[in-house]
This record gives sequence, C-alpha cells and structure tokens, in this order.
Amino acid sequence: MDFAWTRQQLILKDSIIAFAREQLNDRVTERDRSGEFSREGWRRSADFGLLGLTIPVEYGGQGYDPLTAMLALEALGYGCTDNGLVFVINNHLWSCAISILDFGSEAQKQRFLPPMCRGELIGGQVLTEPESGSAAFTMQTSAVRDGDAYVLNGTKTFLTSAPIGDVFIVYARTSESRAVQEGFSAFIVTRDLPGLEMTKAWDKSGLRTAPMGQLTFTNCRVPVDCLLGAEGMGHGIFQSTIEWERGFFFASQVGVMERLLDQSVEYAQQRQQGGKPIGSFQSISNKLVDMKLRIELAKLLVYKIGWLKREGRMAFLEASLAKLFISESHVQTSLDAIQIHGARGYMTEYGIERELRDAVAGTLYAGTSEIQREVIASLLGL
Ligand SMILES: Cc1cc2nc3c(=O)[nH]c(=O)nc-3n(C[C@H](O)[C@H](O)[C@H](O)COP(=O)(O)OP(=O)(O)OC[C@H]3O[C@@H](n4cnc5c(N)ncnc54)[C@H](O)[C@@H]3O)c2cc1C
Repeated sequence: MDFAWTRQQLILKDSIIAFAREQLNDRVTERDRSGEFSREGWRRSADFGLLGLTIPVEYGGQGYDPLTAMLALEALGYGCTDNGLVFVINNHLWSCAISILDFGSEAQKQRFLPPMCRGELIGGQVLTEPESGSAAFTMQTSAVRDGDAYVLNGTKTFLTSAPIGDVFIVYARTSESRAVQEGFSAFIVTRDLPGLEMTKAWDKSGLRTAPMGQLTFTNCRVPVDCLLGAEGMGHGIFQSTIEWERGFFFASQVGVMERLLDQSVEYAQQRQQGGKPIGSFQSISNKLVDMKLRIELAKLLVYKIGWLKREGRMAFLEASLAKLFISESHVQTSLDAIQIHGARGYMTEYGIERELRDAVAGTLYAGTSEIQREVIASLLGL
C-alpha cells in the first residue's frame, strides 16, 4: 500500500478542517450544556457535501472512495469541536445511508438517498431494546406480514437521532422459528408512520448535542416496499453495516485525538511552572509522546479499513480492532489532555472535560469494548 495521499485528497482534508472551524463550532459549550442539536451546522454540512461522502453522485452524494472518506471524516473530527454533530453525521452515513445504498432496491435508493445527501432527511438506526443490548438479536420487536404491510410492535431504546430523525433502519423479528441468520428483517421506516411514537428522550453524560430517544411501535404498518433486502436478511444486513460503523465512525475520533494532542502540545510549550515550560518535565512530555503514538497506530488501522473497503474486501476483524483501540485510546487521550491542562482541563469553559464525556460513549455504542474483545477472540479461533 502506498501511504502517500494525493494532492486532491490533501486539499479536501484542509478544506474540511477550514470549513468545520469556521462554520460548525458556534456556541458548542453552551449547546452542550443545554443539549441542543445544531440544525444550522447540519444544514451547512449538507451544503458542503459531508452528508453523502461515499454515496454515488447519481444519488446526490460525493462519490468518494472509502479511503478518501476516511480522511474526510478524520478532518471533520479534527476541525469540528461539536462532537455530537459529528456523531449524528456519522450515524446518518454509516448506520443508515450505507445500508440503503448496499441493500436497497433502485426505487428505495432514488427515494431516500438524494434527500439524505441534501440534509432534508436525518437518518438513524433502530436496533437496541430495553432487554436486548449486546445480545441484539434476542430482540422482541416483531414484524408480522399483513397484506401489503408488515405490522411492527415493540420498543427500541438508546437511539441516536430518534428525536430529530426522519428515516430509520429498523430491525425486527419476522420469524419465531427460524435461526438468527434468517429470523430477522430490516425495514426503512419513516417518522410519519401512524403507530410510531417517541416515548422517551434521554439525557446523557456526553455527546449531548446529539439527541437520543426511545421509539415505540404499536401496530405500526410499514409498507412492504419499505422492507430492506429480502425478508430474513436482517442479520446479514446488520453484519455488513456494523463493519462500516466500527471502522468509519472512529476515523473522526482519530481527528479529535489529533486536535487534543496539538492543543496539549501548545499548552505544554506555553504554560510555565517554576520558570520552565511544563512540556520540559518528562512526566508531561511522556504523555504527549504516548498520545502521538496512539494517533499514529489509530491512523494505520482506519486507513487499512478504508483501503480494504475500497478494494471491495471484508474488514470485519479490522473494524473490531479499530473500534476497540480507538475508542479506548480516545478516553485515555482525553484524560491525558485534562491532566496536562491541570485545573483548566477540568473546567467547563475550556472544553476539555467535555471531550472526555464525549469519548466514553465510544466504548459503548456499536458494540462495547467487552464485545469487541469477544469478537476478536472468536476470530482468533478461541
Ligand atoms: C451514545 C450511544 C449511542 C447509541 N446509539 C444507538 C443507536 O443509534 N441505535 C441503537 O440501536 N442503539 C444505540 N445505542 C445502544 C448500544 O448499541 C447499546 O448500549 C450497546 O449495544 C450495549 O447494550 P446495553 O447498553 O444494553 O448493555 P448490556 O448489553 O446490558 O451490557 C452491560 C455490560 O455487560 C457487558 N456484556 C454484555 N454481554 C457481554 C458478553 N457476551 N461478554 C462480555 N461482556 C458482556 C457489556 O460489555 C457491558 O459492560 C447507543 C448507545 C450509546 C451509549
């Protein structure tokens, strides 16, 4: 693999960083406190072309290859300090749009992808239930065929973008008797359907500008033409989607870690104690070295996934490795950044304590750290 980026890729990276700094970082501390999603930031991101990175041009996207998209997502994480907005964008792309692109019929792609790329529809994924988290495919939500519709009943929770979303990939059980691989199906569900209700909005520790909610389906009739793929394909669709989620969401976190490193190096050079810059103390510089090392390793992991996906190859193991390493590195990097900034790191107005709250979420969603270790162990034959 050639590790050099092309001039166009580097121009794209710089332009996204400049765009994010100028247009997306408005009132982040204040909006974090009030838990406010930035509609304006979302609209600007759509206008800039961030909501359809790998979606082909014919469906309104940018048509970037997956490796270029990785660099774009990293740049977004580096430039944008509103981690919640970045999370909603990643969720829209890798938990919803990509599934429609990969498994949707031509009519479904034409119907949903162009407005999703334009930012007119916000996408999300609806999988987790109160009693089925890590063991997602023990879910109880049922979908029973009745004429020209599937009738959905059940409750789904901890759903990113549920309070603001318009279109969701919903997973439900379509057979009681079939094995997991054939007993579940995925549906493209629009917000306006009768019988679909938001029954709870969650307040949470981090990613507070990314709203989260709970959806309840009560005899909700989902038209047959909203079935994604064929009946019984839900588990397979999820296995494919999770590869994109575990790989691509976390490219943005590599960018965040690099932003924290640059900020911390600058602070360590400027802040003087006892007549010396704190960066001259080895216990501080060692933290910065470890931060740098984690970032470089994280980049190798995500670039490899981008390359594998560009070649049309599977990246299941690589995506779990990246998700595990980057989410835990992100937490450690945020802790290091707080420590280097001393009391200022812990004060809300400097924005660094927020980074830690945002980072912790990464060890939970898209499969917890414990689940990633289980997956990797089983791929090692254990
Ligand atoms: C910020 C955020 C955003 C989210 N967004 C979405 C979304 O958009 N859509 C959606 O459907 N869901 C979403 N989720 C839910 C998320 O997918 C689940 O929280 C996650 O799968 C874990 O499920 P759980 O919380 O029920 O924990 P549990 O599964 O109950 O796990 C509790 C603890 O037990 C451990 N554990 C469980 N099973 C095992 C095992 N087999 N081996 C070892 N340890 C195990 C877990 O690692 C964890 O430490 C989101 C969650 C968060 C935090």
